[in-house]
Amino acid sequence: MNEGWIPLEGERDQNFRVRLPSGRSAVFKLCHPEEGEDVILCQAEALEHIAAVDADLPVPRLIRTRDGRPLGRMVHEGAAYPVMLLSWLDGEVLGQNTLSPEALHDLGRMLARLGMALRGYVSAAPAARSLAWDTRHAHRLSPFAVRLAEDERELAQDILERHAAATVPAMQRMRSQIIHGDVHPYNVLIGPTGFIGGIIDFGDMVHGPLILDLANAAADFLSAEADPAETIFEMVRGYRSVTPLEEAEADCLIDLIETRLVMTPLIDALKSASGIRPQGYFETFNSRSMPMIRLLRKIGHQRLRGLIRRAAAYPAIPAGPAPADEQSLTRRRRFMGEKLYVFYDPPLHVVKGEGVWLQDAGGRRYLDCYNNVPHVGHCHPYVTEAIARQARTLNTNTRYLTDQSVEYAERLVELSSEGLSSVVFVNSGSEANDLAWRMAKALSGHRGGLAMDFAYHGVSEAMDAFSPSNAPDHWNAPHVRLLPAPCLYRGVFAGDTDGLGERYAALADPLIAELEAEGFGVAAAIVDSAFMTNGILDAPPGYLEGILRRVRKAGGLFIADEVQSGFGRIGASFWGHRHHRIVPDFITIGKPAGNGHPVGAVITRPEILAHFLKTGPFFSTFGGNNVACAAGLAVLDVIRDEDLVENARSVGDYLRVELKQLMSRHSLIGDVRGVGLATGVELVRDRRTREPAASETTRLLNLLRDEGVLIGSEGKHGNVLKIRPPIVFTRENANFAVAALDRALARL
Ligand code: PMP
Repeated sequence: MNEGWIPLEGERDQNFRVRLPSGRSAVFKLCHPEEGEDVILCQAEALEHIAAVDADLPVPRLIRTRDGRPLGRMVHEGAAYPVMLLSWLDGEVLGQNTLSPEALHDLGRMLARLGMALRGYVSAAPAARSLAWDTRHAHRLSPFAVRLAEDERELAQDILERHAAATVPAMQRMRSQIIHGDVHPYNVLIGPTGFIGGIIDFGDMVHGPLILDLANAAADFLSAEADPAETIFEMVRGYRSVTPLEEAEADCLIDLIETRLVMTPLIDALKSASGIRPQGYFETFNSRSMPMIRLLRKIGHQRLRGLIRRAAAYPAIPAGPAPADEQSLTRRRRFMGEKLYVFYDPPLHVVKGEGVWLQDAGGRRYLDCYNNVPHVGHCHPYVTEAIARQARTLNTNTRYLTDQSVEYAERLVELSSEGLSSVVFVNSGSEANDLAWRMAKALSGHRGGLAMDFAYHGVSEAMDAFSPSNAPDHWNAPHVRLLPAPCLYRGVFAGDTDGLGERYAALADPLIAELEAEGFGVAAAIVDSAFMTNGILDAPPGYLEGILRRVRKAGGLFIADEVQSGFGRIGASFWGHRHHRIVPDFITIGKPAGNGHPVGAVITRPEILAHFLKTGPFFSTFGGNNVACAAGLAVLDVIRDEDLVENARSVGDYLRVELKQLMSRHSLIGDVRGVGLATGVELVRDRRTREPAASETTRLLNLLRDEGVLIGSEGKHGNVLKIRPPIVFTRENANFAVAALDRALARL
C-alpha cells in the first residue's frame, strides 16, 4: 500500500484515507472481493443519483476514474479488487458520543432527505441481496436465540415472534425503495457545530420499506446517557418535517426499533457460531442492546407508540372505549348548558361524514338530506386537502398581502352581479349580515329595517332584531318591520293567481310609512331569497323586485342574504337573488362557502364600502385568513368542476316530481315546493283546511331517522319538511329518501 494511506474502519470493505494530487482528501475503497460487481456499481450509481437530486445532502461524492468509469480495478496479492474513490467528508465519526436533541432532530431530517434523494433510483442489485442485518428478515435469526443468556432468550423470542406475526406482514404493504440500510453512529459524521456533517457507507443498501432507515437509526442512536423516549421523539419529528410518516409506519416503529436492537446479540451469536470474532464497535452495540430493550419496555410500548404518533402528527389513540351516548349527553348538558338544542330523541351521535352520508357512533350510515353547510359533500377530499395544505403553509390575516384572500375576493366578484365588486371578509353569516347592516345604516343615514316575517339572519344583537324566528312569541324590535311571507300555499293572497308579486310587495308600503313616521326611516331590507325559515317558499315573480324598488325609493338598501340560497343551492343560478331577477346592494355569504370551515363575507359596491370606511377602520382577525380562503376557493373549484349548480337543478326537479307522486298515497302531504336542492314538503291534517300537522312532522322526522334518512323541519308552524342536502345529492339518493319517506308516512 502507498505511504500516507491511512486505513479506516469498515466491516466488509477496506477503506483508506488518501490525498489526491489536488491536495484534497478522499476515501479509497477496496471493495470486498466476494461482493458482486453489480452491488458495488449500485453504490456508485446511488451516490451519483443523490448528488444529482439533492446536491447539498452531505454524503460522499463519487470521483470517477480518469477515463470516466465509476469503478476502478486493482490487483492486490494476485486478486483483482473493484475500487471506488469517494470525496472525503469533514467531521468526526459520532461513535459513542451522544447527540443533542437538536442534532437528533437534524438527523431525522437528514434521513428523510436521504430517502427522498434515493426515491427515484432504481437498481436490481439491492433487491436481490440477502443481508444478515436486514431487519425484515430478523426472524431468521431465531435459531440463535438459544445461545443468549437464559433471561434474554425469552425476550428475544417474544420480539422475533411479534416481528414475524405482525410487523413483516405490515411491512409488505409499506412504501418501499432502495434505502441506505445501515445508518448507525459509526456511519454518521458530526460537523463542527455539533450537527450532522455527513452520512457515509452505502455498502448495505437494500430495497426495502422506507421506514427501516428511520427505525434502524432510531435503535442505533439510543444511548444510555439520554432519555430514549426523547431520542425517538426528536428523530421522528425531524423526519416528519421533511417526509410525513404513514400511519402504519408510525405504529410499527417501536417494534422495528426493538427488532433492530435484538438483532445485535443474535448476529453476535451467529458470528461466534461460525467462528467469526466480532470486531470494533460491534461490541459496544451488543452490550447495550438488551438493557435498552428492557428500558423501552419499562417506559411501555403504549406510551412510546403514543409519543411516536404525536411526533408524526397523528392523533392519540383513545385510551378506552368511546363513552356511551347517555354519558356524552350528560357531559354535554353539564358543560354546554341544559337547554342547548339537539336534534332527535335520543340524539344522534355522529362520528364521520362522507359525501351525502353521515355515520353514527355505532357505524350506521344516514343519508344527509338536511345539512347545507357541507355544501359539496361532507369532508370533500379536495376541500379538506386544500385546508390542510394551507394550514401547513401559512395562516395569517388580511393586514398582510396574502394571495388566497385576493384570489378568493376576485373569484367571488366574478360570480357576483354587476357593480358588486368589493369583498369584505368575516367569519359567519351573522357577521356578514351585521356588517352589511352597519354599512347600509352608514350610507342611508337611516336606522330602520325590513325583514321577512319568521326570518332568521343571525346571532348578533343587530341580527337578532331581524330574526323573529328566534322568538316567535315575544319578538320585539321597534326599528324593524316584518313583511308578510309571500306564501302561495298559506299567505294572505293564497288561492289568487294574478299580479301576486306586486300585491305581496305592496304590503311593504304601510310598513315603510310607519318606519318613516316613527323617525327610523329605512336603512335596509334583508331577505333570504330561498325563504328557508318561512318553509321554503316559491315567492311569486316580481316580489323581490317590488320590495327592492320600494326600499330604494325610501332611501334604503337591499341585502341579499345568500347564506342559504347562494353557491348554486337553488340550481337555477349561482345566487338566489338572480332567480328573482334583482341586483342587490349587498350579497352576504356564510354557511356553505367553506364547506364547514368558517367563512363569511359581504360583497358590495366599492362606493358603499368606501363610505363605510370613512366612518372608521374595519378589521376582522380571522376574516379572510389564508385557510378560510383556501377552503372557499376549493369549494368554488368543486362547484365548477363537478357542475354542481346544474346538478342541484336537475336532481332537485327530479326529487320534487317523485315527492309529488307520494301525494296520491299520503294525504298528509299538502304541498311540495322549492327550487334546486331546497325543497319544502308541507304536511297538513286536512288538505282543505290546511291545518298544520306539526306533531306528525316531529314524529315523522324520528321515523325517518330510523329509516336512515336525516331531514329537518321548518316554517312558522313547524310542519314543513326541509330537504336541503349537500348539492352533490344524486337521483339515487333522491330515490332512497323518497322510498324512506313513503315507508315512514305509512308507519306514522
Ligand atoms: N342568514 C341565514 C339566512 C341563515 O340561514 C343563517 C344561519 N342559519 C345565518 C344568516 C347566520 O349564519 P351563521 O350561523 O353563520 O352566523
